[in-house]
Amino acid sequence: MRRVKSFFGGIYPDDSKKSTAEAPIEVLQAPQTLVVSLLQHAGGEATPVVTKGDEILKGQLLAQANGAVSAPIHSPVSGTVVAIEPRAHACGSSVTAIVIENNGEDNWVEKNGHPDPVQLDAATIRQRIQEAGIVGMGGGGFPTALKLNPPKNTTIDYLIINGCECEPYLTADHRLMVEYPEEIILGAKLMAKASGAKRIIIGVEDNKPDAYEALKGHAGAIDVVSLPTKYPEGGEKQLIQALTGREVPSSGLPFQAGAIVQNVATAWAVAKALRDGEPSITRVVTVTGKPVVEPKNLLVSIGTPIENLLEAAGGFNGAVGKVVIGGPMMGGAQFNLEAPICKTLSGVVAFREEESATPAVLPCIKCARCVDVCPANLLPLRLEAFGMNEMWDEAQDYGALDCIECGCCTYICPSKRPLLQYIRLAKQEIIAKQKKPS
Ligand code: SF4
Ligand code: SF4
Repeated sequence: MRRVKSFFGGIYPDDSKKSTAEAPIEVLQAPQTLVVSLLQHAGGEATPVVTKGDEILKGQLLAQANGAVSAPIHSPVSGTVVAIEPRAHACGSSVTAIVIENNGEDNWVEKNGHPDPVQLDAATIRQRIQEAGIVGMGGGGFPTALKLNPPKNTTIDYLIINGCECEPYLTADHRLMVEYPEEIILGAKLMAKASGAKRIIIGVEDNKPDAYEALKGHAGAIDVVSLPTKYPEGGEKQLIQALTGREVPSSGLPFQAGAIVQNVATAWAVAKALRDGEPSITRVVTVTGKPVVEPKNLLVSIGTPIENLLEAAGGFNGAVGKVVIGGPMMGGAQFNLEAPICKTLSGVVAFREEESATPAVLPCIKCARCVDVCPANLLPLRLEAFGMNEMWDEAQDYGALDCIECGCCTYICPSKRPLLQYIRLAKQEIIAKQKKPS
């Protein structure tokens, strides 16, 4: 087993993955009504190409990409478009969605899969990935085809497949690696060809030995590497540093270090699109947390309300303090459980009241623990102060934009200071200022 050193900083939270790590993926039947959001990716909302009253097939295009950084959206079921209107979104606000009444017949559009898609040329692979609406399923939502097509004269030495799933509680990627290793390896080969990457490395944290073995069994010449279990091992820059020794420049992108990072779930989606001709209309989601009666990993149709997943997991046992979408470190609290599952959403985690109480904030004692754990080599206590005092230029000078929002600083702080919250605010203000016409 090849092991490598880890990145600088990071934390070791209790991973709380036990209740679902061995739970095989169960298929959740698509509900009667699906709410397919037009915003499931980085960039602009997709533009609908159907109207109210249209009869649609499963896999049919519902909305086309709106610009280069955007992605098309397809129907997860066959049925009827009953509304196109603002609906609750996991981001907390209302976003236009296409509401579909499922006819339960699963009538597919004609699929254009290929029995041996690795034979396709790079441009065709990228085009099919784009047409299938595949975006980074680890949470980023950046259109995959775009990421696989870096600027001209860029050499990509490494395609890194991220199988770390370092967020506590989540095991959706873990189960995909155990149950679908062949698809992940195929997806990795397709993305390597599409990007011209010379070498593929798959990184798996060492708390998932069964996933490592499953991938290894199908990997052939592909390097599968075991990484120390540490949060945020799956951060793009941290993974590149750990696996290649290269550093992405400050405010830079992975291709500037000759690397592209893609999540294992994205690789799985790429294989399904190119081999089976199925666009991105399903994903695996972990439903877990102490109040959940029967924690599970579910393969769900995009557009299924979050409350349906919780119901499939037996509902709640006792009072619930908070439901978080994504992982507990980087995810956000969800107030409306009618919001639908999107392509980027890998977990629904419920917490008891006592687990989610807001702690009292105390003055900073200058212990520097936040500095020690910051994987981006920042000074979180200074950045927090700049954020609180609306000193956006100073925050930028101190590298606020390099913050990967991992939350390590907030987690470790003995004074329970809301470090990440103020750093996030500073980042938003800096980005808004950069976008303003001068
Ligand atoms: S400053 Fe940003 S990158 Fe550093 S620990 Fe805090 S959240 Fe993570
Ligand atoms: S960890 Fe908290 S108390 Fe310690 S220096 Fe950072 S902000 Fe201050």
